[in-house]
Amino acid sequence: MEKTFLMLKPDAVQRKMIGRLVQRFEDKGFELLGAKLTRMTMKQAEIHYAEHAGKPFYGELIDFITSGPVFAMVWQGEQAIAMSRTMMGKTNPLEAAPGTIRGDYATDKGLNVIHGSDSPESAEREIANMFEPGELLPSGPPIASRSNGLH
Ligand code: GDP
Ligand code: MG
Repeated sequence: MEKTFLMLKPDAVQRKMIGRLVQRFEDKGFELLGAKLTRMTMKQAEIHYAEHAGKPFYGELIDFITSGPVFAMVWQGEQAIAMSRTMMGKTNPLEAAPGTIRGDYATDKGLNVIHGSDSPESAEREIANMFEPGELLPSGPPIASRSNGLH
């Protein structure tokens, strides 16, 4: 069982796409462990996108991701990281296949609707950057089969 950090970017929130995007991951069979509508602080944005510091688009990226609310989520599932990246589609909208989230909804390389962790290490860092442990359900068997909810 793997955990991943998925985040609907400010363009997705502004376009009122939260419901239909959450639906895709529920339909796929992933388990939602936590979610919140929040605005990334400058510090959170810098930690989240540390690997891109110094790239030509970095300033634009930080400005965009802090420009409005994001919908941050933690999901659990078998190969949730690779599977959600496949569901998101390629970064470049020209290469994002129809049927994927970016393929269906993005036309811009920057404003591309959704973020998803690319490795277990990134997932751990990105989750810790945006959630307190007490805000998340414990990972484990499907929530429907548990005797209680939040720990
Ligand atoms: P991702 O893992 O598919 O989100 O892509 P990357 O890790 O390569 O890039 C992180 C984010 O930076 C992307 O999702 C885009 O929002 C943004 N980005 C990447 N490349 C470019 C670019 O060439 N131009 C602009 N404006 N933004 C970019
Ligand atoms: Mg990335």
